[in-house]
Amino acid sequence: MARPLGNRQLGQSFWPDLGNLLSAVRRAMWITLVNFVRKPVTVHYPEVKRVYPDRFRGVLALTYDKETGEENCIGCRLCEYICPPQVIKVEMLKAEKRNFAKVFTLELYACEFCELCVQVCPTDAIIMMKSFDLATSDRRELLLDKDRLHTIGLQFDPSWATGNGLRNMQTPPKAPPAEHAKAEGTAAKAEGKAE
Ligand code: SF4
Ligand code: SF4
Repeated sequence: MARPLGNRQLGQSFWPDLGNLLSAVRRAMWITLVNFVRKPVTVHYPEVKRVYPDRFRGVLALTYDKETGEENCIGCRLCEYICPPQVIKVEMLKAEKRNFAKVFTLELYACEFCELCVQVCPTDAIIMMKSFDLATSDRRELLLDKDRLHTIGLQFDPSWATGNGLRNMQTPPKAPPAEHAKAEGTAAKAEGKAE
């Protein structure tokens, strides 16, 4: 005799349940088969490097001036002031022609990769690289000083974003040239008289 099972009898639910089970197994086996013959998407890092997008926000670095070879950082501390988790520390060194950063440290282990420091830098001195390749089991290695930041800047490909590049991109379109504006004004006056 069938045992009561809630509102249904056990004998009544067996065949529908078995059908559902077999259908689920068939679907799972199909997905397994499709993935078995599919081309793998796994990248065998670090032998194979993935190509990153131009605006990839990777590790931070300091740059040199390509023409003079001088450090681009003028020690203005704007990046230090803007940084939300306050992981940048800068000390300015005043010099005759321009200023430098006497001390520049960045605690990369606490960085949010928000890019705000890059956005405010007036001299494109701090940038992001198209790499995250600084994995380590010792957090102290991610306390980056000025020399290490400059080395990273030479080691990896830079991201597209620089302070000046980002600010130019966000600048509103320029007003039309004076002559064009004058011509438009005359035309508007003429229209007004005609009415
Ligand atoms: S990316 Fe953001 S969190 Fe990281 S150092 Fe720059 S401002 Fe600070
Ligand atoms: S990296 Fe840029 S914003 Fe930061 S101190 Fe140097 S010049 Fe100023």
